[in-house]
Amino acid sequence: MHEGTGFTPARAATGDGRAHGFSTLAVHAGQEPDPLTGAVVPPIYATSTYKQDGVGGLRGGYEYSRSGNPTRTALETCLATLEGGTRGFAFASGLAAEDTILRALLAPGDHVVIPDDAYGGTYRLFDKVAARWGVRYTPAPITDLAAVAAVMSGGTKMLWIETPTNPLLNIADIEQLADLAHKNGAIVVVDNTFASPYLQRPLALGADVVVHSTTKYVGGHSDVVGGAVVAADAAIADALAFHHNSMGAVAGPFDAFLTLRGVKTLGVRMDRHCDNAELVAEFLAGHGKVAEVRYPGLSTHPGHDVAGKQMKRYGGMVSFRHKDGEQAAVDLCARTEVFTLGESLGGVESLIEHPGRMTHASTAGSVLEVPADLVRLSVGIEDADDLLADLRQALG
Ligand SMILES: *Cc1c(COP(=O)(O)O)cnc(C)c1O
Repeated sequence: MHEGTGFTPARAATGDGRAHGFSTLAVHAGQEPDPLTGAVVPPIYATSTYKQDGVGGLRGGYEYSRSGNPTRTALETCLATLEGGTRGFAFASGLAAEDTILRALLAPGDHVVIPDDAYGGTYRLFDKVAARWGVRYTPAPITDLAAVAAVMSGGTKMLWIETPTNPLLNIADIEQLADLAHKNGAIVVVDNTFASPYLQRPLALGADVVVHSTTKYVGGHSDVVGGAVVAADAAIADALAFHHNSMGAVAGPFDAFLTLRGVKTLGVRMDRHCDNAELVAEFLAGHGKVAEVRYPGLSTHPGHDVAGKQMKRYGGMVSFRHKDGEQAAVDLCARTEVFTLGESLGGVESLIEHPGRMTHASTAGSVLEVPADLVRLSVGIEDADDLLADLRQALG
């Protein structure tokens, strides 16, 4: 199995004080058996408030479930451990997490550099929401260090990185970009949704903050919407903690439970996603109806070497362009049977979609507009033969 030379595997201590690897941490970090009953799985604490033993006499540090809930704490501790950060925060969605980062770490007048092929919802947040509050942004090709340097100014307070990007699967060099941003006095945020901490650990590469849509690979079963933020530095973590509570877009205990249940199998699921995606990418690359395959694991991908350096493997997302144009791409999406036509990604089931008309419709007419003949696959953990046969029949 390929392992990137710049990839630092998760290693941290759980309750026994010894260092453990990623999957051991995923199963155990923040999840000590319940002291009262010995329950192996952290219970769903469906409670809004907590009895105090006299005014201010908190039993476990909890006073109100927006501020803190033990089920949510278990998830937050686990994710902070897996990303190698000081503190984690669980949110109601990925975009709630992103919004809280912007409010906690930026002020009106500040400037942010974002990827010119950022996730459509991230772009909309900057363009339609944050801009109204005076946060300025410039989209830049973050695969190109010089192009990013050229748009940074004295007012640039944040560099927003997404890698691999959605839906073009471009690869940005986190370490080099973090260096550049820090020299300019900017904070570095990495959206690690596509890779998950199993494949990529941005804080070890110099990023300050990691954000996730846990709706995707971290939850992994398409049954819950959620987000997470992990910070490296205590002062940034304090600002995030204050805004997490003050803005209130927190994950509920049921959602935290489902997400944590997903996290336990993240390592085994990701390996299977990667195995299948590698086969799908090779199959598509050899198919006559396919004009171009975007998968960082292919040696023809422009970001292959950088991905090889900073990622453990190349992930479960594959995009490709249909040789016969937009209508052929749209029709193909309606013809698959094992791949379900739908938005979202990162679940155990394979999904297919047309970014131009679905997930990225909000980027139409902007510099972030995606090719009309592009099809995006979220390759699931089904049997590879079934996935390849389905694509073969749908491509015709
Ligand atoms: C889905 C997604 C988000 C937004 O997360 P939600 O949970 O849908 O709010 C952010 N970034 C990326 C890369 C995504 O794929």
